[in-house]
Amino acid sequence: MGLQRYAFNQIRMGVDTPIVVYAEREEQAVRACRAAYARITTLEERMSDYRAESELNLLCQHAVGRWVKVSPELFYVLWRAQTLARQTEGAFDVTVGPLVRLWREARRTGKLPDAATLRDAKARSGYRLLELSLPRRAVRLKAERMQLDLGGIAKGYACDCALRELRKHGITRALIQMGGDIVAGDAPPDSPGWKIDLPNSRNELLLKNGALSTSGSTEQYVEINGVRYAHIIDPRTGLGLTKLILARVRARDGITADSLATAAAVLGEPDAQRLERLYKGVQITVSQVRLNHSGQPWNGSHGRLT
Ligand code: AMP
Ligand code: MG
Repeated sequence: MGLQRYAFNQIRMGVDTPIVVYAEREEQAVRACRAAYARITTLEERMSDYRAESELNLLCQHAVGRWVKVSPELFYVLWRAQTLARQTEGAFDVTVGPLVRLWREARRTGKLPDAATLRDAKARSGYRLLELSLPRRAVRLKAERMQLDLGGIAKGYACDCALRELRKHGITRALIQMGGDIVAGDAPPDSPGWKIDLPNSRNELLLKNGALSTSGSTEQYVEINGVRYAHIIDPRTGLGLTKLILARVRARDGITADSLATAAAVLGEPDAQRLERLYKGVQITVSQVRLNHSGQPWNGSHGRLT
């Protein structure tokens, strides 16, 4: 009864979400992966800022000045986000939603927001405007028209939850990727780990029972007047990062890797190294990206599953 490799791919949270598992029978693989994708769908319904009716968006409407109880999953992600926000003095900040919206508008129109619009969006952002109550498992917002955005943390967490779901179905040898976030369970039967092919890195990485996330300014950006503004916001300026940077984080779980990678991209070196010392067992590398003559980054972006 040998283990067979089964691979699936679906879109979740706006990105390709491949899941690779080893199982003894196809039905087991299918059942487990179906449950894993369903779990991610539930999380998307809670945490998406694109869906008007997501738990997150309803919270933004109803929690101004009053406590609103939230699901355990949403509370946990917000709790981790706020912890990291304090540790990074707001470099990582899930209240940047109004600024992310302006960035999306700039990408559509090719124009930066004017000063008054930017000021208004900044006034509605800032992690200190978001309060959490552990005993009530509740959230309160201190300003009107705030927008929470979990784009820098939710995918890693969703990978963690998907892996747990697979384990419930008896599958431990598994790999899940959502965009730049990868979470691995036990190694494949014929290898000491899951081979992750890192673009332009000589070393192929072997991952097992851990996570790898990549964040940076090279994939999603808008170019205005010769300046590239990445989809990651520098909360100090309110605008997308303009430095070309790639942050890679290895951690025990996806939520840590994902959130720290986004934070490290904002912080850059050497502040990212300070963050590394706060989190045991975490490895952070931050590199400046050089562009080749066609404007493509030399040292690539996401890792790929092989
Ligand atoms: P990632 O690809 O994991 O680095 O996440 C990038 C996404 O995180 C963006 O598309 C935004 O949704 C969100 N985001 C942008 N800037 C920040 C920030 N400074 N802190 C936390 N999340 C952010
Ligand atoms: Mg991230």
